[in-house]
This record gives sequence, C-alpha cells and structure tokens, in this order.
Amino acid sequence: MTILDFLDAARAERGGAPALNDVTYDELYAGSLRVAAHLRETGVRRGDRLAIFSENRLGFAFAYLGALRLGAIVVPVNVLYRAAELEHVLSDANVSVVVASETTKPHVAAFPAARIVDAATVEAWASQSTPATMPHPAPGADDDAVIIYTSGTTGRSKGAVMTHGNLAAIASQVVTAWRWSARDTLYAALPLFHTHGLSAGFNGTLASGGRFIFDARFDAATALATLRRDDVTMFFGVPTMYVRLLEALDGEPPALRLWVSGSAALAPDVFTAFEKRFGVQILERYGATEFGFALGNRFGGPRVAGSVGIPLPGVRVRVAERETGTAVPAGEVGELLVGGPSVTRGYWNAPQATAAAFFCDDEGMRWYKSGDLATYDAENEVYRIVGRLKELIITGGFNVYPLEVENELNALPGIRASAVIGAPDPARGELPVAFVECAGELDAEAIRTALGLRLASFKIPREIVAIEHLPRNALGKVEKHRLRDLLAARG
Ligand code: AMP
Repeated sequence: MTILDFLDAARAERGGAPALNDVTYDELYAGSLRVAAHLRETGVRRGDRLAIFSENRLGFAFAYLGALRLGAIVVPVNVLYRAAELEHVLSDANVSVVVASETTKPHVAAFPAARIVDAATVEAWASQSTPATMPHPAPGADDDAVIIYTSGTTGRSKGAVMTHGNLAAIASQVVTAWRWSARDTLYAALPLFHTHGLSAGFNGTLASGGRFIFDARFDAATALATLRRDDVTMFFGVPTMYVRLLEALDGEPPALRLWVSGSAALAPDVFTAFEKRFGVQILERYGATEFGFALGNRFGGPRVAGSVGIPLPGVRVRVAERETGTAVPAGEVGELLVGGPSVTRGYWNAPQATAAAFFCDDEGMRWYKSGDLATYDAENEVYRIVGRLKELIITGGFNVYPLEVENELNALPGIRASAVIGAPDPARGELPVAFVECAGELDAEAIRTALGLRLASFKIPREIVAIEHLPRNALGKVEKHRLRDLLAARG
C-alpha cells in the first residue's frame, strides 16, 4: 500500500466528503493528477527531488501528492531555514524544483540551480477543470517517497529517506492505534514539512478517510474556536500548544474524543492540569522523523503521566545497552531501539551516518538507534523517555537526566517552562544549569531549596538563569545548543 492508494480508496468510497479543509476527496484526487501532469511538463521525472518550502496551504498538499504520483521524491523544507540550511538541503538532495510561497521565495532566489514553482500556481493547476490521467507506473512500496531533513536541534541536519511503504506503515499504525475513522475530523496547526503534521496529520487522514482542518500557525484562541466546532473530534499538538490552550481556555472546554501530544516530552503537571480543566487525559506518544511514531499511551487507558505507553501496532522497541545492543532489565535506562516497517532505509547520501544509526541483532532484525534514553516501567507496564543521549549530563560520575529536573522545575509555581543543560566544570566534568521562563521575578534560591526537597543534591542546577523566551525550533522544541552557546558567550 501507499499513501496514494489510501487517497484513491477514500475517493472511491466517499468522493464528495471533505478531506482537507473544504477540499473534497474527489477534488484532492483530481487535483493531484493535474498537478502531476503540470510538474511533468515542468520537467520533473521519476526519482527527481522536488522540495516544498512553504507554510501550510493547499498548494503544499497538492504539490506533495502530485510529485508522489510521478514517482518524484518530495523534500519538505522547514520554512525557518535560511541561506546556510537551504544551501545544505538543496545541494545535499540535489533538488531540481522548489515549490515556494511569496514569503519563502526570496530566500530560494539565491539558488539558481533549482527552478521555482509558486505554491499559488500549484493551487491554480489543481483547480483547473481539465481532466488528467493517472501517471504510469504508479510508485511501489519500496520506492523512495520523501526525504525529511531532521529538525537539527544539534548539528547539521541529515535527510531521512522514507519509502512509500514507510509512509503507509506510519499512517496505518496511528489510524489503528487511535481508532481513527472516516467519521473523524482532525484539527492541527502543525507544519506539514515535519513528520508530525505530514505523516500523522495528513497521511493519517488519507488512511482514515476522514477530514483534516489545518492552520498555518498555532494561535490558542483560534484553535479553541475551531476545536469547539461540532464536527471536530481530534487534536494533535506539541506540548507547548497544550500549555497555551490551558492559559487561553475561558468557559467550557471543547469536547473532543482524542487529544494527542508528541514531538517533545509532555510535562506531567501539564497532563494533570489538562485533565482537570478539560476533563480528559492527553494521549502522549513518542516519535521521530526516522520512523514516524513508535510508542503511545493506550487508547483505552490507563494513560500514565510522564510515560509514552506501549509500542504502536507493528512497531518493535528494545531498551538496550548502547555498545552491544543487548536489552537491559526493566527499570534500567538504555538507548531506545526501534524496528519494523515504518523505519527509514537510511540517510540520503550518507552511508556512514546510516551505518552508525543501525544495529542488526542475531536474528537479522534491523534496529534504528534512536539516540533517546528510555526505561521500561514494569509496574505501570509503560515505557518512559528519560531524555536524549547527547543531552545526558554527567556530573562527578553521576547521571543527571535533564528532563527529570525540568519536570520538577515546571511543577513549581511561577515557572512556565525550563531547560537544563550541562556546563563544563573542571572538577566535576559538568554541572547542571537551568534556564527558566518565569511569570514574575526569579528567586533562584527559593527554587533551589524547593528542588532540594525532591531531588538529590547533584541534580540541583548550580545556576538558574531567567530567560524571557527559551530558543525553540519550528515545532516548539527547545534548542539546547543555543543555550550552550549563550553560556559559552558569557564565559
Ligand atoms: P523529530 O525527528 O524532529 O521529530 O525529533 C524526534 C525527537 O523528539 C525524538 O528523538 C525525541 O528526542 C523527541 N521526542 C519526540 N516525542 C517525544 C516524547 N513524547 N517525549 C520525549 N521526547 C520526545
């Protein structure tokens, strides 16, 4: 199966039903064929790379589907990327055509090697009334479909190649796990250039036959108004969106059947506050560009705060020793390995990075080494993510998991968000330092005292720095390398 098969099946069954905002399945289907024909005229061929560098809009969706129909490989590009990042992505993937919007176009102008097609032109192509035929041959499950460059919270981004089979597996997994059906309407304001919006939001919708209402950017008041519509049944968001929804809620909360959070850790106090105020538990799930989504809290409950539940259908996970890949006992921390049909075949143009990212066990099972540290909590029968391997702080030989300290900080009154990093220290190797967004004045001593009641002394940040806004990427994830730069610049 491919995403296109899902679209074609939904169109055959319920062509007049809305698929994407007010666009019906019939229109999405016909538009994808027309855009494929125009892209072909533009010179796009099977296997060519076509970048989409645009905010969420219909032109994004049509360019994506049209290119896939041709067997071209779509490279979604983060709209925040500028010269250095664009140059890296466009040249690494050897992109021949870039679909860009009015706002992003000026940034691509510096790269004459790539031909620019306006997202508005794609929209005009899609809405023509001319019939278009299905390109042949249709791409198969093993053909490359997209190259998604990892969001790069550290270092230079790598392009994870996802085949049509990978995308279909990811969509099927979430549709099954979350009982997603044609009766559902999803609302999300997640960028389509990231796996959360594209693989879960858009592709999941096509696999379910339901409707996806999307916005280009998240605004809590707008989101609440849309979520109050009778037809909306599900919301997908990142943790910061849940914080904003809690702050903005006035009156009765919207009644949805499912609220999903992912892409970063959901603080347990946000989970609890949401349950109190919205009367429902958020379903937290864990994923990454390279495999879509691996773990999620049980649909039927119990949903455990601070945990990411169990493997999604079809996904295998193992908490392993980094060096050997051997499973560690329950309760111990190890690297999370992920296996199954949704896992990338590797990074584009990067055989070494690909080799380093995988581990094959004695039974021939191919595991992706996520770089995330996890543990299996046998009592609650759930997995917990304890942080990124690279962000682990080792102080005087003791391990400090930043997430644990951040969760404690976030639970203190007046702290809106926090990020803990390791600062170099000649005696202890590293010492934890916290950056906090406060509602009022920062009282570092009071915070340290409060933390001291709950955490071992070596985990207490040596310094607590007030910051107005933590640096975040387009998905709202804190960019810790920028905090490290801030510390280094201070000396
Ligand atoms: P990306 O490839 O941009 O989607 O980033 C993937 C990374 O986000 C993972 O490797 C994790 O470090 C982090 N992540 C995603 N979901 C969660 C979650 N529920 N809890 C903690 N970290 C998460």
